[in-house]
This record gives sequence, structure tokens and C-alpha cells, in this order.
Amino acid sequence: MAKAIRTIPEPNKTVDVIRECDVVVVGGGPGGIGAAVAAARNGADTVLIERYGYLGGMGTGGLVTIIPCLSDFSGTMQIGGINQEWIERLTVREAETHPPEEIWGETDPRLIAYWNDRSFFTVREGHIVYASLIDAEISKCILNDMVSEAKVKTYLHSLGTMPLMDGNRAVGVVFESKSGRRAIMARVVIDSTGDGDLLPYAGAAFDVDIDPGLRIANLSLSYWIDNVSFMKADDFRKTHPRKWEELMRDLMQKGGHTFFMRSNLKGQDHIVWVHPRYATSSQTDVEELTRVEFLGREKMLLTHEFYKKNIPGFENSFIVLSGPQLGTRGSRRVHGDYRVTSRDLLSDEPFEDTIAVFPDLDRGEASLAHPNAFIPYRSMLPKGVENMLVACRAFSSDQEVNNFFNLIPHCIAFGEAAGTAAALSIGQGVSVRDIDFPSLRRQLIAQNVPLPDVYPAKYKKGPKDPAVVYENPLFKERNLKE
Ligand SMILES: Cc1cc2nc3c(=O)[nH]c(=O)nc-3n(C[C@H](O)[C@H](O)[C@H](O)COP(=O)(O)OP(=O)(O)OC[C@H]3O[C@@H](n4cnc5c(N)ncnc54)[C@H](O)[C@@H]3O)c2cc1C
Repeated sequence: MAKAIRTIPEPNKTVDVIRECDVVVVGGGPGGIGAAVAAARNGADTVLIERYGYLGGMGTGGLVTIIPCLSDFSGTMQIGGINQEWIERLTVREAETHPPEEIWGETDPRLIAYWNDRSFFTVREGHIVYASLIDAEISKCILNDMVSEAKVKTYLHSLGTMPLMDGNRAVGVVFESKSGRRAIMARVVIDSTGDGDLLPYAGAAFDVDIDPGLRIANLSLSYWIDNVSFMKADDFRKTHPRKWEELMRDLMQKGGHTFFMRSNLKGQDHIVWVHPRYATSSQTDVEELTRVEFLGREKMLLTHEFYKKNIPGFENSFIVLSGPQLGTRGSRRVHGDYRVTSRDLLSDEPFEDTIAVFPDLDRGEASLAHPNAFIPYRSMLPKGVENMLVACRAFSSDQEVNNFFNLIPHCIAFGEAAGTAAALSIGQGVSVRDIDFPSLRRQLIAQNVPLPDVYPAKYKKGPKDPAVVYENPLFKERNLKE
């Protein structure tokens, strides 16, 4: 960001307080949805503030529609609760797809080959795992339903600009919208902005360093290309491997995108998904965000024109959608009462205040040795700040851990724990830092959140039915073809 050329005093202003509530959540992405729904369902008068005109954050507006890492290698589901409820609502509307439950944990090479081809997120370290591919548009509608049913008071088109502080205690939030500058007073403030936008004004310490080699060091502008014939494109690739390689090298040299995924959703089987990476020095610098919006659309056009001209199957394709919001992968990470570090991924010992179990899926041998990681409640409590929780990808973590667990279902899980804790703290008349943890644990378990030693009955699997494993129509279709 350009340095200030000078400063001027702002005229003194008073701000209208338009509401007093129990819990205010800023940011309506995965973390904010989990937090607002959980707080309201647990009896808190809850307000949600979102800067855009829809909910879901990256999971809708960022076109990030892969919900991965829901089970461990054994096929045991580890992220449940509100995340699973959202997926089930999508399933009912045929707006989601995932490997059938009966094959989670399977290692059969035929199943692996089939699911790997549909989405590599469904295969980890040689096992089929539970991961879901969702429809972003239907998801926006379902998230509206979920917050409305929970009676969350939602303000869209509203940018949360700063927390209101009484010393080191958060007591509300100021937000700006077309209706002007307004304040909401609250007993608990939850920062679910993804970027930790409230942290600098709350006096909370945070990290911003990210190794340029990490996934989270990159911005993205995702886009979809429709009307692609995969049959033709796959055939061309198979029959002309040298030509394909040559073309991809050429495209890469021109600065285009050579990697894409395909939508597996019903009725969307002609759509290509592209999630490019743009290295950046900061994901909260407005000049950087503007640069990547321009660059991203330039590269999108270049890439599509190249495919259309050179790759059979793309002749009649068109760009159907580019991300309404830029893909922000990583920014501020709060200094919490506990900072989750890569050392914690090598431990099989749960924390006393574990609020979530995350399958640890991407580290080869290390992951096989320690298939699940435990997340402590303290990683959401900003050091030295009272009545505030950070329930989003800005949770307290080192870069490596953030790189692994800065994912949609994980942020919903953070949100669910934070919202539940906020409501409990109000019920118990204590600060969020001092809640009775066993009550929080009991309540999360009642909400179908798997926790160490307790696995919700709702998710227990029956014995595997071989007919379902191998007679899956899609599996048959593929294997008959080969
Ligand atoms: C290109 C890309 C690919 C990815 N791939 C995957 C993947 O395959 N699977 C996966 O699970 N995860 C993936 N991720 C990561 C995933 O998107 C994030 O971990 C997740 O969305 C984080 O959720 P969040 O709620 O913390 O933040 P966000 O999703 O960023 O949501 C934050 C919300 O807060 C709102 N907001 C922000 N600031 C303010 C403010 N000041 N006032 C009001 N509202 C505000 C935003 O508009 C947004 O709705 C990917 C990310 C990117 C960018």
C-alpha cells in the first residue's frame, strides 16, 4: 500500500447505535456462518455483518466449491456438525456430490483410479476419503435459510470497520454501508472476516509472514469455462500426448493456466474450474487486490482463447463466470492463548480444550503416522483481549498449520465452536476466556461434532455392503468403459 503523503484530522463524529445484542459476528463466510448459526441456536441474540450481498465467503463468491478432508484415512468422518448439515441440505437439492459412504477408507486401486479421476480431493495417501463438491449458487440460498431459521439478524452490504473497545474488552462493532456509519453493541464480538480485519483495532497481536512457497501465499481469481466436451479433450490428450505437452508448455510461457479441474455436479459436466495462483506480498493491501483483479481477468481471457483455439472440445466453450470476489488464501493470523504449530501435528494427544478434530491428510508418512490433529479452543482467543473470538482462517497458527487447516469445513468448525462458546459464556455470565469447558464440549457433542473419545451416533457406519461398493452406477459405468 502506498505510504500516506500527509495526515488530516477527521472531524469528530458520533455514531448511531442501531442495536444491542449478545453476539455480533463480522464476516459471513464459512467461519461466520458457523459462528452465527451456532450462537443463535444456543439462545444468543445474534447479529451477522457481511460486506457482500450473499453469504458463504470463498465457498460461494470465491468459487471454492471443494469441501475436503471430512474423514480420515480409515473412513471415519471427523468434521460434522453444521458443516455436515449444510452438505446434507445441498444433497437433498442435488447440489453436491461425494464418494458414497460405503467406500470411505477403501484402498481398492479400481476405486482409487475412478475417484482420483473425478476429484483428487477424494483420494488421500491411497485411501478414499470423504470430500464433497458443491454448487456455489444453491449454497448461497441454503446459507440464507440456515441463518434465517436460526433467527440471526443479518446485515448484508455492510463492511465491519472496527471493534468498539472498553479498555481491552470488545463491546461492539462499527460498520459502514449505504445507510451510513452505524454501531452495534454486543457482549461478545466474533471476528470471522477471514483476514482478521478487527485485530489491529482491538489491540491484538498477529502475524502476517507467509513463506512464498506455501499455498496460502497466493491470491486467486477463480473462473469457470462452460460448454466443454471433456470426451473430445480427453481423447485428444490421450491420442496426442506430445502435442498436448507442447501446447501446455506454450500456454505456460504465455502466462496462461494449464491446470484445471472439472465440475462433477449433476448437469454441470461440461464445466471447467480454474483456481489460479498469483503470488503477492499482501492479501489485505488494496493496491495488490486491485492489481490481481486486473491481472486475473487478463490471464483468464488469454487462457480461454488459447484453449478455444488449440484444444479440441473447447471450440464452443465460453467463460460463464469469474469469481465475484477475489480468492484470498492467507493473511493475518492472531496471536492466541495457544498457537497451533507443526509440532502439534506430530502428537496423538488431544488438548483438554479440543473443539475440533481435523484429518491431517497431506503430509505423506507423517500423516499416516498421525492421521488426525486436535484443535484447542484457546487458538481462537486473542491474547490480552477480552470478549472477542477469532473464528476463521485467522486462527492462531504457524504458517504450516495454517496452510493445512485454512479450509472451508475447518473454518465452519471453528465458527461452530466459537458461536457455541459465546452463547455459553453469556449464559454462564463469564468472559469467553473463562467458560466452563466441559459444558462447551458437551454442547458440541450434542451438535454432532466429533470430539476425542466421543463419536456422534448419527455418523456411525454400518457394515459395508459390497453391492454398494462395487455396484455404484458411476463406478460400473467407468469400468465398463475401460
Ligand atoms: C483459490 C482458493 C482455493 C481454495 N481451495 C480450497 C478448497 O479446495 N477447499 C477448501 O476447503 N478450502 C479452500 N480454500 C480455502 C478456503 O476458501 C478458506 O479456508 C475459507 O473460505 C476460509 O473461511 P473464512 O470464513 O475464514 O474466510 P472467507 O471465506 O474469506 O470468508 C470471510 C467472509 O467475511 C467477509 N468479510 C471480510 N471482511 C469483512 C469486513 N471487514 N466486514 C464484513 N464482512 C467481511 C467476506 O466477504 C467473506 O464473506 C481455497 C481458497 C482459495 C482462495
